[in-house]
Amino acid sequence: MTTDVDVVVVGAGIVGLATAHALTEARPDLSLLVLEKEPTLAAHQTGRNSGVVHSGIYYRPDSLKTSLVRRGRELLNEFCAEHGIVHEYCGKVIVAVEDSELPRLRDLETRAGENGIEANRIGPAGLHDLEPHATGVEALHVPAAGIVDYVAMVDALAAGLTERGHEVRTSARVDALHEDRGRVRVEVGGSTITASLLVNCGGLQSDRLAAQTGDTPARIMPFRGEYHELKADRRDLVNNLIYPVPDPEFPFLGVHFTRMIDGNVHAGPNAVPAFAREGYAWRNVVPRDAWEIISAPSSWKLAAKYWKTGVGEVKRSVSLKAMTRALQRLVPDVTVDDLEPSPAGVRAQAITPDGTLLDDFAFADTERCVHVVNAPSPAATASLAIGEQIAARLLAKA
Ligand SMILES: Cc1cc2nc3c(=O)[nH]c(=O)nc-3n(C[C@H](O)[C@H](O)[C@H](O)COP(=O)(O)OP(=O)(O)OC[C@H]3O[C@@H](n4cnc5c(N)ncnc54)[C@H](O)[C@@H]3O)c2cc1C
Repeated sequence: MTTDVDVVVVGAGIVGLATAHALTEARPDLSLLVLEKEPTLAAHQTGRNSGVVHSGIYYRPDSLKTSLVRRGRELLNEFCAEHGIVHEYCGKVIVAVEDSELPRLRDLETRAGENGIEANRIGPAGLHDLEPHATGVEALHVPAAGIVDYVAMVDALAAGLTERGHEVRTSARVDALHEDRGRVRVEVGGSTITASLLVNCGGLQSDRLAAQTGDTPARIMPFRGEYHELKADRRDLVNNLIYPVPDPEFPFLGVHFTRMIDGNVHAGPNAVPAFAREGYAWRNVVPRDAWEIISAPSSWKLAAKYWKTGVGEVKRSVSLKAMTRALQRLVPDVTVDDLEPSPAGVRAQAITPDGTLLDDFAFADTERCVHVVNAPSPAATASLAIGEQIAARLLAKA
């Protein structure tokens, strides 16, 4: 059976659905089909993240992350208000626990100024007022950080598409893509869909999909982020969001405390290699995925650069005591008994052949396709702006 549509979007995570939303807003006349391999929406990164609306404090002023987070937050506010999705700008603290972290905290303060984001320097007393159980020598308070339910956003985006007459098809894995003679052929199960244009928002699988229509500038390196949560009677240890000062050489923010929109308090995530693209525990190993990591020279180059940080991350993964010690740097009263396991997520982080972890969002074009190459955190925050950008790029090919 062959179906014909104007646009296929692969992936019903928040980036895919935000892109479909932007495309149908810009061109209501187009027929559009979203294909998702899982039986439910937001089954991977989007449904397994920290739920933070990032302020944009960390990123280079000239980066896509900075501009798309700025625009994405505006769009997120409008979208959530329109659809009654609860979100809250509760603010966060970034805490320097030792004097040696102060220069990096000051650099962040400068970066906040460059990006036009309010960040107020506070001492131990100010920190105590905001987060009575946190300790540090100095902190930055960033009022613009917030929390939201990204799965509720995804549900609303999908409902909007369906209302406008488009289909979001679940349990529909794209097995193959062929681009020729101005069309894209999409193989799904036994059937073929032809489209004039295609967007690949396949998250952890995006590089493999992209490779079917041409060369890819980077491959996906899956990094699992494991979480614990505070037991219900210990949630009062944390009011809002408590973060460490990040290592600027490493793309992840370090284990932190996050109050979720449902009242839960998450502790984590760490960052360890996942030997399955969608491997949410050490025991999940997919031979093809594991071999790809082990055999790629870029993985070894990466390991050579980050082995020290990596050893610490693995230790915190296998030992609850080590994880608790990391959390106690921020909130000394937390104990092993206060924590229970919570579902992990896996980040789709792009790595270039020379072993560099791509920092910024990245996209790649072919004649009829736009492929998302790198959309790690804060892509959920920026999703509606990423969608606008991809839609403009794709429609320029129409
Ligand atoms: C642990 C963790 C914490 C994070 N915290 C935050 C945060 O607090 N704030 C923030 O802004 N960002 C955060 N992020 C980042 C954010 O979650 C992601 O950047 C965002 O969800 C990416 O969305 P996506 O749609 O690209 O990917 P995904 O949500 O992974 O969606 C991709 C979809 O494509 C589907 N797919 C793949 N291959 C195929 C195929 N062949 N056929 C059909 N469908 C296919 C998958 O099943 C999946 O549903 C976090 C990420 C992680 C992992």
